[in-house]
Amino acid sequence: MRVAVVTAPEQVDLREEPVPEVGPDDVLVRVGRTGMCTMERRLYLGTKPIYPVAPGHEVAGEVVAVGRAVAGLPGVAAVGDTVTVDLLTRCGTCTSCRRGRSALCKQPQGGALADGTISMGAGFAEFVKVKALQAFRTGSAPIAHAAMGEPLACVAHSARLGGLRAGDRVAVIGAGFMGRLHLALARFKGAASVGLIDISEERLAEARAAGADWTSTPEQAAETGGRQDVVFVTAGAPGALESALSLCDDGGTVVLFGAFPKEVLAEVGPDLIHHHELSVVGVYSQEPRDWTEAAAIIGSGRLAADLDALVTATYPLADVDAAFRLAAKSPVYRVLVGG
Ligand SMILES: [Zn+2]
Ligand SMILES: [Zn+2]
Repeated sequence: MRVAVVTAPEQVDLREEPVPEVGPDDVLVRVGRTGMCTMERRLYLGTKPIYPVAPGHEVAGEVVAVGRAVAGLPGVAAVGDTVTVDLLTRCGTCTSCRRGRSALCKQPQGGALADGTISMGAGFAEFVKVKALQAFRTGSAPIAHAAMGEPLACVAHSARLGGLRAGDRVAVIGAGFMGRLHLALARFKGAASVGLIDISEERLAEARAAGADWTSTPEQAAETGGRQDVVFVTAGAPGALESALSLCDDGGTVVLFGAFPKEVLAEVGPDLIHHHELSVVGVYSQEPRDWTEAAAIIGSGRLAADLDALVTATYPLADVDAAFRLAAKSPVYRVLVGG
């Protein structure tokens, strides 16, 4: 089978690789679509120079084989099912996994291709193999929607750790792909209102078209949207934590979802957090229950219009290079590969 390997900045090869062998508790998935996330952009542009590397962790496809130990078990996908797949290793043994926080598994992540090339998903390929418990059925949803299983699971994790409840007033800082998924999920979960905050007028206009109740530049947000119960920060810019806290009503929560540059520091008054019972929650990655939720929501079709609007372009695997080039340029929502 073919698999895409980034060998140097802006260099992508399609290599031949044996089709993975299916163990007793695995499923083999013929890849239908794979999304380009921030990690792929960093590897391609050389801001995260790890070479050679086989990226691609947002994968959906059709199950073509099921291991004998798990075939037919309730909840396990069958041959022919469309699934979205979790490619994180969750050891189940470390302190994080034992506490039910497998998003933070301490086991080093990632495997390798047959020739030793580092795999960070290796999802720009014809097949992937995963444990059956890491393949989640998405029913009759389009394959492009199923390929958003991983980012939507991250957003479900974000909503869960942020304590989002129906009736909450929600603001989302950053109207890129992840901000828009937060908008879609918060509306789905019954938020009273969802506002999006960004510096790009174009992105704000697109967020309004996608159903945002209000949009604003960072400077105008307090005036436009008023006090909030949950503020999701999907764009880790300097000052974002401070503005998110200033938007919170009493008892509000700030969720730090997007990565911040390591050198960014924040000046926060502990008394503000104390007196107003504010919470600041860090969110990174996702866990199996978030996958279950994301796959079910995708399968329900209730977010179909939201997910459709987030597909910027789709390229066949043979043109994976062009997909990397487009995704490396801002602004895109999701560039998909496959088909
Ligand atoms: Zn991702
Ligand atoms: Zn672990």
